[in-house]
Amino acid sequence: MSTIFKKIIDREIPASIVYEDDVVLAFLDIYPIRKGHTLIIPKKESVNIFDTDADTLAHMMIVAQKIAVGITQSLGAPAVNIHMNNGTEAGQDVFHIHLHVIPRYERGEAFVVPKHESYDEGEERECAEKLKTAIA
Ligand code: 5GP
Repeated sequence: MSTIFKKIIDREIPASIVYEDDVVLAFLDIYPIRKGHTLIIPKKESVNIFDTDADTLAHMMIVAQKIAVGITQSLGAPAVNIHMNNGTEAGQDVFHIHLHVIPRYERGEAFVVPKHESYDEGEERECAEKLKTAIA
């Protein structure tokens, strides 16, 4: 199912596009966490990290580096966060995969993250083993 981002790709709605190539489009987020907050999306539709091919993901990260350098050079931000929400529970609202590149202008600006958890006895090892088995 197409999203609002497909309309941006097809130029049906406006966006402040800052970079484009054959594979991706990068444009300013309409509600920036910090000014210059940029989204990188592939032109080919996919939902998130679970259904996007590895070459496209790799290219998105290459372009994220380009945008990050551009942000530091042009907007006076010394730092950036690179972030991706994959799935509703992770906070994904637009179901067309996108990387957030967020300028950070001051140290200590809070990013709201859930409270950290602790592992029970043996749980960390069990968790790592499950993950290793799944990935192998
Ligand atoms: P998510 O929560 O899915 O990771 O992030 C979606 C992002 O898309 C949000 O940061 C939101 O501000 C941005 N966004 C939603 N609709 C539009 C739009 O129509 N234009 C632009 N430029 N950004 C949008």
